[in-house]
Amino acid sequence: MRRIPVCEPVLGREETEYVSRCLASGWISGIGKDVSEFEERFARFCECDYGIATNSGTTALHLGLATLGVKSTDEVILPTFSMIACANAVSYCTARPVLVDSEKTTWNMDPKLIRGAVNPKTRVIMPVHTYGHPVDMEPVLDVAGETGLHVLEDCSEAHGAEYRSRKVGSLGDMAAFSFYSNKIITTGEGGMLVTKDQQLAERARWLRAHAFGRGGKHFWHEEIGFGYRMSALQASVGLAQLEKIDRFIEKRRSNARLYSEGLSDLAEQGKIGLPIEMPWARSVYWMYTVMIDRGFGITRDELVNKLSAMGVETRTTFYPIHVQPPYAQFYSGESFPIAEEIAAKGINLPSSSNLTRDEVSYVVSCIKQWAQ
Ligand SMILES: *Cc1c(COP(=O)(O)O)cnc(C)c1O
Repeated sequence: MRRIPVCEPVLGREETEYVSRCLASGWISGIGKDVSEFEERFARFCECDYGIATNSGTTALHLGLATLGVKSTDEVILPTFSMIACANAVSYCTARPVLVDSEKTTWNMDPKLIRGAVNPKTRVIMPVHTYGHPVDMEPVLDVAGETGLHVLEDCSEAHGAEYRSRKVGSLGDMAAFSFYSNKIITTGEGGMLVTKDQQLAERARWLRAHAFGRGGKHFWHEEIGFGYRMSALQASVGLAQLEKIDRFIEKRRSNARLYSEGLSDLAEQGKIGLPIEMPWARSVYWMYTVMIDRGFGITRDELVNKLSAMGVETRTTFYPIHVQPPYAQFYSGESFPIAEEIAAKGINLPSSSNLTRDEVSYVVSCIKQWAQ
């Protein structure tokens, strides 16, 4: 059997065809029509009206914060259990990331902790839909509404996930997506901001490409803009990927069911913790993630090595942001017990959209072989 990757892109004939068509047209820069087409279609997929494509998920987050006016005296609330880019995007605005712990159920930021983190400097709340499971958005939006804060969703891991039958990305003021090669759909590198707000969309579009002067003064710049355009070559890949996204999500959901069935006895014995799907959620299982409990018999890191030796590639879960060297100095002495537990126990199992039934069974049998 082949070595099973933790997450690989699924590319086909259509991607090659659309890239060739884009190349032949000569319109390969960020103003090529494939970009606007990809923006329109992806925004519609997210139940939004506007899409602003970028060259990464990180730049989409930064552009979103800049569009919302985040500046150096501001604070942004986000989960400590997330990918570092979330905090870095705040730092690029020279603003301060304010970290909150996760909830035990979904591993997402705990909405109950947000109110306590709000102060007069707070400007934006950044919920991150981790591993494909949506954040419980109603309480987040309630706090934002009461305190006049903006909400920028990070949907990099959750393309197509639903919260109370609404697509993630359509719930806050703006939302950022990543199309890095291991995400649910990919453009190689790339990202997008989506929104329903026309003014925010126009400002984001303007800032994305150097804030060029309007009304005839082309090389005149009223603000510091960015070089964050996506190329049409990338967008052409995105157009092909978008045609397949519903199939990718279905496959991920059915593989998640297979994993959960296969591992249910270990879960009942308290050896392993499985991801859950809340009644109000439709998860897209970007990464099918399990917690290796003490009862398992060998440690999480030992299991990672054993699986690797058996041809199963995995990832350990994120180190929380509050322990990362650039941020630890601001959080010394503070503890975020849930995030620390998820970070210590978690493994992302192989989760690609082309993972077969047999491969899932093989991974399950490998894990079972080491449970004691
Ligand atoms: C992948 C990811 C990003 C960064 O995306 P890039 O395209 O790699 O810049 C940001 N936030 C989260 C939650 C991610 O998973």
